[in-house]
Amino acid sequence: MEIRDRILVVEDDKRICNFFRTVLEANNYDVILAQTGAEAHSMITSQCPDVVILDLGLPDMDGLSILKSVREWSSMPVIVVSARTHEKDKVEALDLGADDYITKPFGTSELLARIRTALRHTRMGLNKSGVPTGTFVSGGLVIDYDKHRVFVDGVDAGLTQNEYKIVSLLGKYAGKVMTYDYIIREIWGPNMKNDNRILRVNMANIRRKIERNPAQPQYVFTEVGVGYRIVEPD
Ligand code: CA
Repeated sequence: MEIRDRILVVEDDKRICNFFRTVLEANNYDVILAQTGAEAHSMITSQCPDVVILDLGLPDMDGLSILKSVREWSSMPVIVVSARTHEKDKVEALDLGADDYITKPFGTSELLARIRTALRHTRMGLNKSGVPTGTFVSGGLVIDYDKHRVFVDGVDAGLTQNEYKIVSLLGKYAGKVMTYDYIIREIWGPNMKNDNRILRVNMANIRRKIERNPAQPQYVFTEVGVGYRIVEPD
């Protein structure tokens, strides 16, 4: 028997619920729905969803409080859905342990890509610490984790050590947005907090070395006000 991934959709808007159900069932996911925070709480603790899609604006509570309580005991992937366009909310959700976010309105392919990414990260056990090995390949971009080198169309991009660390960190979490603060803490340590400038300078150099057109990147994307996301591997 086929085992389907179970997705819990927490959303109070019936129309959007139906959209999720239609799209996800058509893509072979098992879908369960919760329309309030209270329902979500009981389903999360009794139904073992593989991914939770969590609307932040619920009738009985703020979705972020659900995220907080889940993170006290579980690393199950949570993708936050928000109508809010404020970057502050996205960053807050990511800092509280959300795996990713999508902003309404969003397309089907974006939704499915976020879910695939979240499931892949769970399977790889990336919530535990772990240094990636092997290679990351996406189009002409290759990250060789064993040699600590990045190649573009077969040519060594000549990244500095810090540039390599940034790219390999993004590659380890490919498809997922990494916040500026998270990257800075991982590369330079906690004392560099609140200084995005050094990261921006490094990213400009990385793009000059790996992108055909740094102004229209095809590998590393900027999520304005939030952070960076590298393309998913092939
Ligand atoms: Ca809502």
